[in-house]
Amino acid sequence: MWPKWGKPSRNDTSSPAADLPSSVATPSFKDIHSLLHDEDETGAACRRKASVFHRVRMATAALRTWRSLQSSTLAESGDKRIVLYYTSLRVVRKTFEDCRMVRSILRGFRVAVDERDLTMDSAFLTELKGLLGRQQLSLPRVFIGGRYIGGAEEIRQLHESGELKLYIEGAPPAAASACEACGGVRFLLCSVCNGSRKCHTDKGGFRSCGCCNENGLVRCPDCCTPIV
Ligand SMILES: [Zn+2]
Ligand SMILES: [Zn+2]
Repeated sequence: MWPKWGKPSRNDTSSPAADLPSSVATPSFKDIHSLLHDEDETGAACRRKASVFHRVRMATAALRTWRSLQSSTLAESGDKRIVLYYTSLRVVRKTFEDCRMVRSILRGFRVAVDERDLTMDSAFLTELKGLLGRQQLSLPRVFIGGRYIGGAEEIRQLHESGELKLYIEGAPPAAASACEACGGVRFLLCSVCNGSRKCHTDKGGFRSCGCCNENGLVRCPDCCTPIV
């Protein structure tokens, strides 16, 4: 048996591919790998890199197929509301650039995008954590029709492959003019505390305003409604 290990062949029954039907087993990972492999590159490190890259590509392709199935179901439901969670703060450069890229891609389709800036209201973060069911997350994040589509990398790939257009098809068009109530800011100054976060009480003291967020703002009732 030892020589077999040293020199594997296609007919080797110990190979995992041999358990699969021939239609699934070909083309093998090795064949595609050899196509991807740059002839000028040498060394195991390069091959490992290409292999990992290939596996990621395969996983992405599978994910796309699955999502396209979801997308077609979604199209039938007619709900194509696009929600983008992002940050306008330039604290982490990559996050800021990713958010800007995704915003720009989505805006390019000239459809209505519910843009939720986490720096305007920390409740958006709580909302997002609840939707994704995890505590640690990066921005941006995109939902279409109440379903999670992905972050910057997924949106970029879907856009480059032309698939994003299919997801967005049927979404309501972008409004011709900004919301009259908030001017497109999506928030209004709290009318109870005038944005000060403090309310005068009958006893003469001050208490924190319970009507607005940490910035003394309330969501615009005309254009900033819950996601689902
Ligand atoms: Zn508004
Ligand atoms: Zn207030």
